[in-house]
Amino acid sequence: MEFESVIGLEVHAQLKTETKIFCACSTQFGAAPNTHICPVCMGMPGVLPVLNKKVVEYAIRMAIATDCDIQEESRFARKNYFYPDLPKNYQISQYELPLATNGHIFVELEDGSKKRIGITRIHLEEDAGKLNHDPNRPVSLVDLNRTGTPLIEIVSEPDIRTPEEAGAYLRKLRSILRYLEICDGNMEEGSFRCDANVSIMPKGSTVFGTRTEVKNVNSFKHVEKAIQYEIERQKDLIFDGGKVIQETRLWDPNKNITNSMRGKEDAHDYRYFPDPDLLPLMVDENWIDSVKASLPELPEQKKARFIEQFGLSGYDAEVLTSGHELANYFEDCLKEYKHPKQAANWIMGSLLGLLNAESKTIDQSPISAYDLANLLKLIDDGVISGKIAKTVFDDMAKTGKPPKQIVEEKGLVQVTDTGAIEEVVLNIIAKNPKQVEQYKNGKDTLFGFFVGQVMKETKGKANPKAVNEILKAKLSG
Ligand code: ADP
Ligand code: MG
Ligand code: ZN
Repeated sequence: MEFESVIGLEVHAQLKTETKIFCACSTQFGAAPNTHICPVCMGMPGVLPVLNKKVVEYAIRMAIATDCDIQEESRFARKNYFYPDLPKNYQISQYELPLATNGHIFVELEDGSKKRIGITRIHLEEDAGKLNHDPNRPVSLVDLNRTGTPLIEIVSEPDIRTPEEAGAYLRKLRSILRYLEICDGNMEEGSFRCDANVSIMPKGSTVFGTRTEVKNVNSFKHVEKAIQYEIERQKDLIFDGGKVIQETRLWDPNKNITNSMRGKEDAHDYRYFPDPDLLPLMVDENWIDSVKASLPELPEQKKARFIEQFGLSGYDAEVLTSGHELANYFEDCLKEYKHPKQAANWIMGSLLGLLNAESKTIDQSPISAYDLANLLKLIDDGVISGKIAKTVFDDMAKTGKPPKQIVEEKGLVQVTDTGAIEEVVLNIIAKNPKQVEQYKNGKDTLFGFFVGQVMKETKGKANPKAVNEILKAKLSG
């Protein structure tokens, strides 16, 4: 029997407001334990939460960007459970009436096709604290700094069918959050977290199978691996006559397997009820309109513009708009240098290669857009060859010096003086009588050999066009 997998993702994105969702404590990451806390986020009795307006604005931004319906009235609810990192014994979340519903995004698949993935809901909630398990003592220490950090939970429809689609969806979602500048999307630091719901069903069926939920996955690569593992595990289970049970599983990134963590709670286990300490959240048209007016250009729009304005291919435009910083770099480069395709090639090839190798982001690029543009101009102006430019590029990365300075200091200026090139050519011809003989007898492939010799002699600085012309002339003489 053939199976088809069904995947739905729940993403928790930390909003990067300066203060927490229901109190004025700082949300700064990495502070000494329990230094950013107050009676509200410590869950003291008798305190009252006060909603941070910026948090709502950020959530509205995401709701607009994902084409959601924004509810005029939504409600906060208490989700009751006990855990040592949750001092109130309930988490304030939204349940029956979330802020936004019924949205979607488009993702680009490897074959170039587009797929629509529905977003069931986006709701607001608060984060819990953190337990630090002491490796040397049988104790765990509670740090409440993170308690009350604002989150949006973005729940997808079960529209995703493969691990690759799940990866593409997550990347696009994160890219939108970053364009909107509402979440830094750092999976390792936990500001962008994903739970993957996975089930399988006979191919073509319309009845979904029982799902499992995989938690604790903190990189895109591992989300894809965890889903793949879970699909295979469920298939094996069914082939062996077993049954998938609804449960929460944990991904083990060292062994690349999932392990059962607990039976999956149902909503009624949490005894949700409206939080009596918080008024209904009201969002009117004016507010939505003003947020809409403040939105930046989003990945889809930017991509379409890059194709239209710069004549880029869909693939190039997709890569260059995958992050707004990268897109800005590209456009900054074009302020100085007028050939989009060449700029795109250098950025996507040499520059991204360099950043990848050094695990750097575009913001940490050792080569500024301005300097890269000037390097490309040196090629176009015939000052250096494309080949020399690669070595200048490497030097720029190492030293941070502008390209002109490197070219001058190292004497890399291309030799276009035909007299000088002619001298070298004649010299090479004189030194290689056997090859000249063979060439004249029809072994055309030897032409490359002569070019190589001239280039070697001139340390790559001879203008390739001039070398070709002069060699041709001299060899046929
Ligand atoms: P819970 O918090 O109980 O997990 P949510 O509604 O927040 O419930 O999230 C459920 C997620 O599981 C959604 O992303 C949904 O698309 C997905 N889902 C629901 N049914 C299935 C299924 N049979 N197979 C895979 N995913 C599913
Ligand atoms: Mg879930
Ligand atoms: Zn506080």
